[in-house]
Amino acid sequence: MIKGREFHPILNSIFDGEIRGINETEQLQTNCPRCQELDGLSNPDGKYNLEINTEKRVFRCWKCDSPKFSGSLGRLIKIFGNTTDYALYKDYAAMFNDYDEVDDDKDFGFVELPPEFILFSDMDTKDDLHLEAYNYMVLQRQIEYPILLKFRIGFCFDGKYAGRIVIPSYDQHGDLNYFVSRSYRNQKPPYMNPKADKDVIIFNEGLINWDSLVFIVEGVFDMLTIYNSIPLLGKTLSNNLFLKLK
Ligand SMILES: [Zn+2]
Repeated sequence: MIKGREFHPILNSIFDGEIRGINETEQLQTNCPRCQELDGLSNPDGKYNLEINTEKRVFRCWKCDSPKFSGSLGRLIKIFGNTTDYALYKDYAAMFNDYDEVDDDKDFGFVELPPEFILFSDMDTKDDLHLEAYNYMVLQRQIEYPILLKFRIGFCFDGKYAGRIVIPSYDQHGDLNYFVSRSYRNQKPPYMNPKADKDVIIFNEGLINWDSLVFIVEGVFDMLTIYNSIPLLGKTLSNNLFLKLK
């Protein structure tokens, strides 16, 4: 069964049937209207750079950036559809607990790990720069090595995040959605995190067992030592997390 199949007819009408994968899969490709506009073309460019996922209800264009063109499926429909298309979308989207209309007005960039990121599972135990990061976690912070592997933790010794431990967050589909970095060289600020909408992220949701007791903890280091826990990335519970805990 195609997840989010209710959205397919809406998309088909907006993009005049020029969609690959329509009614066959959740992952669709179509021609990006924003690219068309930027290139000053009177017809779609035929490049199918706009990816849409009707299960995750997100879209992104592989070509246009600055700023990146991506966001919720509702945002796409709101921009390029008519008011009926968007009203129909909202009716279906309301069936999902995690749907929030405000997301349809947000730009959410995609988070990527720093290019200098090295996983602890790939570290070179003869390299002092690697050992510096390892010693911080294992000796100073007392985080056991299997935990570093379980959470796919790594570090950077150069680049923008030089001297920082990087703790990634993966969603329920296994896709990276955020990361937190913590200095192991006493740098200021101690934490440096990418720009993303923290309100929609449940940190490492992919590792959470919702059928068991879930603990809410303050920071990512608490998460590493408390089983089945979710760190608050700010001082308040995000809407998304609040709904999940109800
Ligand atoms: Zn585009």
